[in-house]
Amino acid sequence: MIESTSAQQQEASTARSRPAFEQVAELVWSVPVECPFPVGFTFSYLLANSVGQFVVVDPGWSSPTGRSQLMAGIAQAGLDSKSMVGVVITHFHPDHLGAAFELADAHGAWLAMHPLESQFFADVGLNELIEREKAFLLSCGMPSETIDGVLLRPEHYSRMFPGVRRSNLEIHHGAAIPLAGRNITVVWTPGHTAGHVCLLDHDSRLVLTGDHVLPRITPNIGVESNQPDRDALAEYFTSLEAIAAWDAWEVCPAHEYRFRGLAERCRDLRDHHLERGLEVRTALAVNPRATAWVIAKGLTWSRGWEVWMLALGGGFLCSLCVASCR
Ligand SMILES: [Zn+2]
Ligand SMILES: [Zn+2]
Repeated sequence: MIESTSAQQQEASTARSRPAFEQVAELVWSVPVECPFPVGFTFSYLLANSVGQFVVVDPGWSSPTGRSQLMAGIAQAGLDSKSMVGVVITHFHPDHLGAAFELADAHGAWLAMHPLESQFFADVGLNELIEREKAFLLSCGMPSETIDGVLLRPEHYSRMFPGVRRSNLEIHHGAAIPLAGRNITVVWTPGHTAGHVCLLDHDSRLVLTGDHVLPRITPNIGVESNQPDRDALAEYFTSLEAIAAWDAWEVCPAHEYRFRGLAERCRDLRDHHLERGLEVRTALAVNPRATAWVIAKGLTWSRGWEVWMLALGGGFLCSLCVASCR
């Protein structure tokens, strides 16, 4: 059994209410920032050094409420927003990256992400990106009338990803986050997205797992329209093994609650996907020419396929990020 390390976060997760701001460790705080996905919020983490400089990890969804929650959290931590030196993104989903560029721009901070995350947006205009997304969904077998019902519109993307562009600091596996006096490094953990990263805070023995490992939700493992041929599940299995090595450390995920028991949780996630793979193989044995769309419709969904489709129809294509499949 994994063990929650924050009773109030776990209670809030069960009650589907907003958890409280928390100090996680010395010079580390978590700030819940609201987002319109079923998970309700994203934990932004503030990592500071002894002279008050700090970085924000995953500033969350871009909205006036989210921004004020984040700024209130920074003040509550006793930090001065003028001392924000950088913003780090675990991955490009809008409940993580949404507010990142505007926050970094407003504070003259660098913005760091893995280059594979930048590539989703790089060198492509908004309309071209949307056409690429539509073509990808069509190739997965999604009916065109369903695609038309999804809010793949420029104004929607602009709201989800305001100011998005290539980041000005690329972080690779093993890189150190440039915050003086602190030992924080990057673990590349592809699977949930191609360039997903986790962070290791060696000073406080914390693993910031983004959406790679959550205590209860099984993160969606999928491909993006710019790299449709990735073997995302194989990548994910390798990434689970890589991060499980920090089993003795406390896990700080982007959703739900903090916990201990990383290796066990990684095993459970792997087992879930193996079981899920069997379900897919069985469906393919019956219908070898079935599209991804047809197979997905026939799988077991925790909240039902219709509920998932409602989220999709609401325009949150990236709710793939939080879709738990049982
Ligand atoms: Zn997320
Ligand atoms: Zn995500």
